Amino acid sequence: MTSCNSDLDAAIRRVPDFPRPGILFYDVTGILMNPRVFRYCVERLAVRAKEAGAGAIAAIEARGFIFAAPVAERCGLPLVLVRKKGKLPGETVSRGFALEYGEDSIEVQKADLATPAHILIIDDLIATGGTLSAAAAIFRESGFSIAGIAAVIGLPFLNFRDALPGIPIHTLIDYHGEET
Ligand code: AMP
Repeated sequence: MTSCNSDLDAAIRRVPDFPRPGILFYDVTGILMNPRVFRYCVERLAVRAKEAGAGAIAAIEARGFIFAAPVAERCGLPLVLVRKKGKLPGETVSRGFALEYGEDSIEVQKADLATPAHILIIDDLIATGGTLSAAAAIFRESGFSIAGIAAVIGLPFLNFRDALPGIPIHTLIDYHGEET
């Protein structure tokens, strides 16, 4: 039996007031506990990579890695890791950004930026789009073109499209702020 978006919705755990009061956290752990739903996510993201003509996949730390790695393997594409500052050895390119909660900085190894490609950036969830905007900036500065952004979950009420102008964005399921 194939999975569908209602199975995906059922697999996503909502955790109120995490990691701070007032934040409704959408936890993808339940997806990983359900192989059928996990496969459904990977298949749909892989279809997106093919439709976008991606020549490489970028994965955003940490939960983006979980979804991006099987997509890259399935599509036969190189996988570039976008990590939190200080995690990658060797020379890196970094960029700071504001989060829905707090601030952070991400980086990519220079060696992974040496061969520019048409790259699809994958994360588990798009909230404000700040992380993905910083990642897109790193890739563009290095001569990459952005094939698009794909995520399992979108929170469009946080206006991520405003932070990512001109970039095709695909999410498998959207929440509008009032769901618990
Ligand atoms: P942003 O840069 O605001 O789009 O934040 C996206 C990153 O923060 C993603 O990697 C998510 O894993 C995480 N994140 C932000 N808000 C939430 C939320 N409400 N529930 C789960 N993860 C979140």
